[in-house]
Amino acid sequence: MVVILKEHAEEKKVDQLLGWLELMGVRASIIKGSHTTILGLVGDTSKIDIDSIRAVDIVENVTRVQEPYKNANRKFHPDDSVIDIGALKLGGERFHVISGPCSVESEEQILEVAKRVKAAGATMLRGGAFKPRTSPYAFQGLKAEGIEYLLEAKKITGMPIVTEIMSIAHLDLFEDVDVIQVGARNMQNFELLKELGKSKKPILLKRGLANTLEELLMSAEYIMAGGNPNVILCERGIRTFETFTRNTLDISAVPILKKKSHLPVVVDPSHATGITWLVEPLSKAAVVCGADGLIIEVHNNPAKALSDGPQSLTPDQFDAIMQPLTQLVGYTGRKM
Ligand code: PEP
Ligand code: MN
Repeated sequence: MVVILKEHAEEKKVDQLLGWLELMGVRASIIKGSHTTILGLVGDTSKIDIDSIRAVDIVENVTRVQEPYKNANRKFHPDDSVIDIGALKLGGERFHVISGPCSVESEEQILEVAKRVKAAGATMLRGGAFKPRTSPYAFQGLKAEGIEYLLEAKKITGMPIVTEIMSIAHLDLFEDVDVIQVGARNMQNFELLKELGKSKKPILLKRGLANTLEELLMSAEYIMAGGNPNVILCERGIRTFETFTRNTLDISAVPILKKKSHLPVVVDPSHATGITWLVEPLSKAAVVCGADGLIIEVHNNPAKALSDGPQSLTPDQFDAIMQPLTQLVGYTGRKM
């Protein structure tokens, strides 16, 4: 349920209303918009008589939110959410390209890639330290050592870092990580989501391989319901019958998520396609469809990469696609 308050509603009366709602067993999040204040109610609102709230003199309007996602719903928060990541803001007028290798493989490798992607215009560094691999015999990541190398690259380049968490047991290692990624395979690891809801760190939540957009929003809701509003949604392609690409980029996810939710949306054309040459056209599609950013895998030597080489751009290729992308971002009224 969404309660829109009248402009200049007296604070004392707002407190009285909140107290009454609490007695009714619902929790209210208070969202101050550009003109209005909105109370987003979660919990069992079925017992609340909508007309009795409408009758309160500071209330402008009341509507029931039918969708199961509440905090993530744009009805709860009409303005776009802008997430602070260090000194950067994601979801506002600036478009962000998050880049780096699939796996952190060595200190030299991550430093080299970090410097190159920064020079080309990337604003955040992403690299995997804990890797979710299909085969238990494949490279599993450098784990804690990988995070140390990422932190070193952050110190040298000044770029915030993004890396994936696979188990809540590792959470302590993520203390200085700027954005914690929840990978596609863990999108519905509800215990992990609940723990991340207790943190205030930005969470990059990737859509599961076979999950609907509503399920993605419900996973965001798990994190937000715990008190962490800093969720970034990521479309990374879904499983379909198509075999030419690794996954199928559901480009319609971008405008749909932007309409249904206020959370920032980023697109990962690397995992969506699995093929280097498709990264540029699908990045362009994402920009035009209103994405707030991109995640692009870049490796110093894709042929020798320990994971996801076939979809990784070389630093030179990344450099080359950043020029047309910057121009396109400009056409959409945003800045790189
Ligand atoms: C990754 O980001 O390297 C990754 C494993 O992605 P996804 O969870 O989308 O498959
Ligand atoms: Mn990868």
